[in-house]
This record gives sequence, structure tokens and C-alpha cells, in this order.
Amino acid sequence: MQTGKVSRISGPVIVAKEMKGAKMYDVVKVGESELSGEIIRLYNENAVIQVYEDTVGIKVGEPVSLTGMPLSVKLGPGLLSSIYDGIQRPLPGLAEISGDFIERGLTLSGLDERKLWDFLPAVKENSKVIGGSILGTVQEYHIEHKILVPPFVSGVIEEINEGKFTVDDPVCRISGGKALTLSHKWPVRKGRPFKEKLDMNLPLVTGQRIFDSLFPVAKGGTAMIPGGFGTGKTVSEQSLAKWSDTQIIVYIGCGERGNEMTDVLKEFPEIIDTRTGFPLIQRTVLIANTSNMPVAAREASIYTGVAMAEYYRDMGYDVALMADSTSRWGEALREVSGRLEEMPGEEGYPAYLAARIAAFYERAGRVSCLGPDARAGSITIIGAVSPPGGDFSEPITQNTLRVSGTFWALDSGLANRRHFPSVNWVRSYSLYLENLEMWFTENVSCDWRKFREQVMIILQKETELLEIVKLVGADSLPEQEKSILEVARMIREDFLQQSAFDPLDAYCSLEKQFLMIRTIIKFSDALSQAIARGVKLKQVMALPVKDKISRMKQETDLAIIEDLIAEIDKSIGSLEADRE
Ligand code: ADP
Ligand code: MG
Repeated sequence: MQTGKVSRISGPVIVAKEMKGAKMYDVVKVGESELSGEIIRLYNENAVIQVYEDTVGIKVGEPVSLTGMPLSVKLGPGLLSSIYDGIQRPLPGLAEISGDFIERGLTLSGLDERKLWDFLPAVKENSKVIGGSILGTVQEYHIEHKILVPPFVSGVIEEINEGKFTVDDPVCRISGGKALTLSHKWPVRKGRPFKEKLDMNLPLVTGQRIFDSLFPVAKGGTAMIPGGFGTGKTVSEQSLAKWSDTQIIVYIGCGERGNEMTDVLKEFPEIIDTRTGFPLIQRTVLIANTSNMPVAAREASIYTGVAMAEYYRDMGYDVALMADSTSRWGEALREVSGRLEEMPGEEGYPAYLAARIAAFYERAGRVSCLGPDARAGSITIIGAVSPPGGDFSEPITQNTLRVSGTFWALDSGLANRRHFPSVNWVRSYSLYLENLEMWFTENVSCDWRKFREQVMIILQKETELLEIVKLVGADSLPEQEKSILEVARMIREDFLQQSAFDPLDAYCSLEKQFLMIRTIIKFSDALSQAIARGVKLKQVMALPVKDKISRMKQETDLAIIEDLIAEIDKSIGSLEADRE
């Protein structure tokens, strides 16, 4: 291919001259060592290139060659349980070739090219197929991997074969002589097409009480987890990856420390997904672009991840994509933009930051998939945001806020008090409550919304009362208000706090979540009635049922939680007014 020459080097950004025929966003190979990069600006015959590998040692005058291809991923069976860098190179494969310090300029296929897959055709010769038609299936662990006709391809099947094939073997020929394989390439910056967006009225069940019960996210929705250092973003993202009720997880470690990815790698093969009975890693694609890896590849890792998520969505699966942290991607955009000497926007971020963030979250959604048959799939995007100093007024938090339907605000005050997940219930919100109400009514309880609102009211009252307590002390509060503080404390400690590391409590079913809330609300009502009769708060707090409520988290037998209602009625109901 036509070559140009390096004319300037500035960190991850390289300018090449004499780049005849170059196109925006095409991938190029830079220098003698053929580093991968992407053209991000063109003027005259100069190309500005962001390089996805370390550019140290590259010299002016070294060759730059065009590949004529945009940055693409190879989609096909074998993605699941893989761990990739930002440009879909399998990290274990790279390490095998070059040891711990990954050599530059290595190219490796994203999919194992030797592995044979059992392909079972789903269509016959002479049938007409279009983009999104199911050609057949292969078994990828427990996932039925549907081999789809790629978008924008159509024709009549001339030949299709059952048997064992690699991802590159032709399995089928369509009219015009075009051969289709088990895999195809897709340019990552381009969203994969679908028929239409669907309503988001199914919740992503996460097993995390504060998320599911107070601030739920819909399947196909978007959520952001902003929080300062150590507030629990990574633990939350990992809990969501472990327990969310989707068939597929794409987990992007973007610009954060490498040991966090090592944790995921160690844990996920060991944890068995209770819904399927298979190790979690078998439904997961991991993309690691850790803090020690080149900054420009952070952007690639985000797009690579979302393109893979769309690929499984197109098969009709629910996919959850976690990105930890999108702030590191934003910082990479800022660094590249700075080196390009672009006019800086707010806090030095490029003016297009908002548009980039919005375009990424826009790729979430529940959709009617491309193809002749009815199939729905979804991508839920959950992005961690790490604002410096935990200050939410900074540009990445603010721009993400505009496009995310659920806001799980982590709070360093709560984290310091070891209240985890440190989600601040006053600042957080979900825009999906109305849409999901029907589902919760039908699948959990018709009282779900009512109890949720009651919990929120009690927590809100607590905030107000604590202001008063600050001024005049708790003793001056009437019994009814003191009891609200007690109930709020129970909600916080016995319901909202949930340790990600407690095997019995890391996941909590919706059924159990509802029983727990109902029990606390019943306790609250009974307590309030008792106090109205003249019973003292401390009489109620001394009852054994109070301790039983605080042990609900550890209770695996839901019938025991259910029985607490009767015990609350009986024990609080029979208390006599304290006439001292
Ligand atoms: P961040 O990614 O925001 O910097 P981490 O997710 O690494 O923070 O969390 C920091 C620490 O907080 C964890 O090592 C853990 O001790 C604690 N933590 C966070 N979330 C939870 C949780 N849900 N349960 C128990 N501990 C938690
Ligand atoms: Mg973290």
C-alpha cells in the first residue's frame, strides 16, 4: 500500500506527510515497527494519527502505510471469555509471544483462527436472506451463537454446509458468488443497524438492593456511577457484571489500574452464574486498557466494546456493558486534543467531548433486531465516572448526566463511614420508574411502588430531622420523630447496606428485596401506631423482632422473613402504654 512519512511526533499523536489517498478514521501502520494508529485529521496530504501503541523511539522520516480499512473488530464465535486490549488483540496471546512487556507492532487475530466450530445451518439452499437473517448456529459455551448475515448483505443461498469450520472458512455462498463465514469485520465507530428502538419496560435485575429497589435501570437503558476515589465504582461495576440478569457482559477496564482487571480475571472463572450454572467468564468479554497502556487506545477500547455488545444484541440477547472509567477516556481525548493544538473547551477538554459521550451512550437501547424475523435485543450501558476530587460539576460528569437515565451518585461521606454501596439516596435518581412500574407490579408485587415511595419519604424525613438534631439535639424531638430516625437507620443498615464480599448477601433476589422492604415498612407502621397509643420507642426497640429484622440479609429461608410480619403485629401490638 501507498506510504507516507512521519513528519512530527507528539506523544501518542503523529503527523505523517505525503499521505495520498488517506481517509479519515482509516487505520495506518506507523514506522518500521508498524504500530497501529488511526487517522483523526487530514489536511492537504498530511494525516494526524493517534497511535494505539507506545511511540517512543519512532523517528521523523519513518514510513507510514495505509491499510485502507477503518478501525474494525472481528466478530464471530470465540469472543466470550476472551480478554482483549483496546484494539481486540488477545492479551494472553500477546503475552505468550512477548512476555510481560508487550512488544509493539504485533498483530494477532481477535478470534482463534484454528479452532473448529460445529455449524448447524438454519436455512436451506434457494432461500432468500438479508442482513440479520440467521444462517445457522454454533454453540459458544452455553450461548447459542447465531451466525447472522452481516448488515447490508443480501442474496439467495446457493450453497450452505453443515460441519466443522474455522471462523474464516466459507460456510455458505450466496448469489453473486459471495462467500459468508462464521465471522465478519465491523468498523467500531459505526453503530450496527437495527429495525427500531423499543420501549424500555423491563428492568435490569442486578441483585443490588439500592439499585433494583430504589433506582432501577431498564434493560437497554443507561446508568452512570460517578464517585471520587475509593467510593466503590469498581466494586459496583464488578458486582453488576457478576449478577445482572443479561446473557452477555462486556466489561471494559479503561485507564484504571491493572490489578483490578486481574481480580476480574481471577474471580470470574470461579464464580458460577446461578441462572445458567456456568462460570461467569463464559458469558463475558473483557477489554483491558489499563493505566500503563497507551492513552489513545482508551478510545478504541470503548468503541471495540460497544461494537461487540451490539453484535450479541443483534442475535437477540440482552447485553450489559460496563466501562470503568469513562473519565479516563475523556482524559485521553483531552490529551490528544491538546497535542493537536485544538481550541480547548471547558477545563481543557475538546469542544466535541459532549457529542462523543452522547454518541457512546446512544448505542445503548432495546431494539428490534435487523433481519426478517422478530427478535429483540438490548444493550444496557453502565459507565463509571471518576470526577477529580469527587466534584460532580466537572465536564465529564455533567455531560454524562445529560444522557444517562439512571444516576447512582457515590458519596465519599458514606464510603468513609463504610456504608456500601455508598450510593447517596438524596442525589441519585432513575428516570425509568414509571416505565418499569408495570413490570414490578406484575412480577414482584402491586405494592412495590408504594413501599418504595414510603422508603424514600422516610429517608427524606431523616435528612430534615438530622438538620434539626444538629441544632437542638436529639433529645428534644418528640417520640414519633425519634422513631422515624430509628426506622431510617434500619433502612440504611438493614436494607441499603450490602456487602459485595458477603457470599450470602452479594446478590439479593427481587423477591427477597421486596420482603425486606415490606417488613421494615410494617415495622414502621406498627411502631408509629404503638407510639400514638403511648408506647415508648425504647420498648419497641427492645423487642426480639427488631434483631430479627437486622438479620434478614443473612436469611436464606424467605418464609422466615415472611413470618416477621405476624411477629411484628403480635409483639408490637401487644405492648402496653408506658405510664411512667
Ligand atoms: P473506586 O473504584 O471508586 O476507586 P473501589 O470500587 O475500588 O473504589 O472501592 C474501594 C473500596 O471500598 C473497596 O476495596 C472495598 O473495600 C470498599 N467497597 C466498595 N463497595 C463495596 C461494597 N458494595 N461492599 C463492600 N465493600 C465495598
Ligand atoms: Mg476503581
